Amino acid sequence: MKVMLHEMSWTEAKGYFEKNDIAIIPVGSNEQHGPQNPLGTDHLIARAIAEETAKRTGTLCLQVIPFGVSSHHKQFWGTIYISPKTFKSYVKETCLALSYYGVRKIVIVNGHGGNRCALVEVARELREKEVFVSIFQWWSVVDKLLPNLFELEERGHAAAEETSMNLALHPQIVDMNKAVNEEPRKHSVQTEGTTLSLDTVDHTSSGVFGKSTTASPEKGKKIFETVVNELIKHVNLLKETKIEDLISKPQV
Ligand SMILES: [Zn+2]
Repeated sequence: MKVMLHEMSWTEAKGYFEKNDIAIIPVGSNEQHGPQNPLGTDHLIARAIAEETAKRTGTLCLQVIPFGVSSHHKQFWGTIYISPKTFKSYVKETCLALSYYGVRKIVIVNGHGGNRCALVEVARELREKEVFVSIFQWWSVVDKLLPNLFELEERGHAAAEETSMNLALHPQIVDMNKAVNEEPRKHSVQTEGTTLSLDTVDHTSSGVFGKSTTASPEKGKKIFETVVNELIKHVNLLKETKIEDLISKPQV
């Protein structure tokens, strides 16, 4: 059974939409991930998680939305960034197009932390239109279910955690000979309790936050399996739940 929307004909898509009200959309970014990782890291990982879950649950999956909210990485070459406003509109309108065919439950698999605020707004606004959107982020699963797999310094941007996922999923585009460890710098005006509008380059020269040399495909595979199993659980729970129990309604 086909699960990727772009591989279906319109009649096959009709067949799916007539029987199902759920879909998965992977989103990510195209931004620097240190000297060893591909720029596509965030959207490639999101796509892999979404497609595997779609296959194992028979759920429709859209093409990945590759560009995200990444202007804070722009000093590093090849980072393609769009504004939160544009990203939000693009994702929201994609969801609304799905809802035209009866989709009421949408799982957004987000591969880039910088997209989160915009996605939370999209989900809130669509719930008002009786479309339920959940946002899934793989690294949060690692926090909860694999807390001992990495040290804190291995969990930063482009560090061992993310690099391990790349090594497990597409090792041919990772160059571990270029992997570095770099402790992020604190800006001189930083004190406790402040949020500063700084860029990645203000903290790291290589683009890596922490330790990336300890990455391994084995760790990546472990993360991938754990993450996909958790997402399968979520998708199945959504399937079992009526939309009436997911959208807002007045108190009785
Ligand atoms: Zn990333």
